[in-house]
Amino acid sequence: MKITAQKVFVANAQRTNFVFVKLYTDDGIEGVGEATLEWKTKTVVAALEELERVLVGRDPFAVDAIIEQLHRDSYWRTGAVFRTALGGIEAALLDIKGKALGVPVFELLGGKFRDRVECYANHWFFGATKPEEYAANARKAVAMGYRALKWDPFDTADLEMDRRQRRRTIEIVEAVRDAVGPDVNLMLDVHGRLNVPTAIAMCRALAPFDLTWVEEPTPPENIDALAEVRAASPVPIAAGERWYEPGKFLEALSKKAVDILQPDVSHAGGMGETKRVAHLAHTHLIPVAPHNPVGPVMNAMTLHASLAMPNFSVFETVSMDVPWRKELVRETLEFDKGAILAPTAPGLGVELIEEACERFAYQPTNVPLFDGSMNTTGVATGAHTFAADESE
Ligand code: MG
Repeated sequence: MKITAQKVFVANAQRTNFVFVKLYTDDGIEGVGEATLEWKTKTVVAALEELERVLVGRDPFAVDAIIEQLHRDSYWRTGAVFRTALGGIEAALLDIKGKALGVPVFELLGGKFRDRVECYANHWFFGATKPEEYAANARKAVAMGYRALKWDPFDTADLEMDRRQRRRTIEIVEAVRDAVGPDVNLMLDVHGRLNVPTAIAMCRALAPFDLTWVEEPTPPENIDALAEVRAASPVPIAAGERWYEPGKFLEALSKKAVDILQPDVSHAGGMGETKRVAHLAHTHLIPVAPHNPVGPVMNAMTLHASLAMPNFSVFETVSMDVPWRKELVRETLEFDKGAILAPTAPGLGVELIEEACERFAYQPTNVPLFDGSMNTTGVATGAHTFAADESE
């Protein structure tokens, strides 16, 4: 079997644009991957397009050899853009191989450790600005079956937080904890924007709410700062979505900077690379909770990798998304009481509907994480991703 062509598809999803890559073969099997790099859409599309001529003519079964060659021959070997492109291509290769062999992709990653992955909800808070609105949305997410919720209540905090910002954050967390009771896991995402003393102060102030983790309390580049926060924090620390090289994960593990590691399957260079990072974490007795905030193909990539790692912890899901997310793909995901079941279809188990992407053309989007607009981005059209709207 030979690869005959690659095509890249972009579909707007309001908060960002999804980027999908497809590989075609001479015997008719097609593979799909996702290479969404939030707010860098055109850049990652160009990176993918530059790689097509190297892929054409190759045997798609030689997955690791192709990825290693693309890495070596790129000369400028790494970076979020390039490794995200590699992650999309690797997924498409594994999808082809799985379909050709009649097995789900997790079988190509060593087989599954479990039959279901317990999920946590992200994006459940869409539309909430007041503590009581966060509480109401949290109750709805729990009614859908979720036993864990994550969100960013840090408003427009930038390195430091004034007294009003601190009070507002604490009020929102308190309202959500009161709403869901003691048995639901709550995780807070800081998106890397506090300095060390502010991060430590906030972890201490929020500890009474029995948090499962505080995520990226400090900027991702400075692992020493993160280790300092972890050493002083009474709350477990999670990070890793903005590290994309194995060496960076190793540094974080060696410096004891995290309690939970969060590689992003797409940005870290693919399912194989994420699995290798997970094994590295396993030797440090650190669990892995992969970052998974974008589109439906990446959700499948993260699912297969999560099934095949020994130290998997919990699975991130975008519980609310644009309603047309479901129009972009054909998939048979089964959501059961807050968990997703291991798929049985060959390959990734998700098919891209190419014509659907054309209906949701690329739109430039701003990063909504730091200006306080995240909880209102996509509000008008938000729809539940994995469950019927029965709780409405
Ligand atoms: Mg995060």
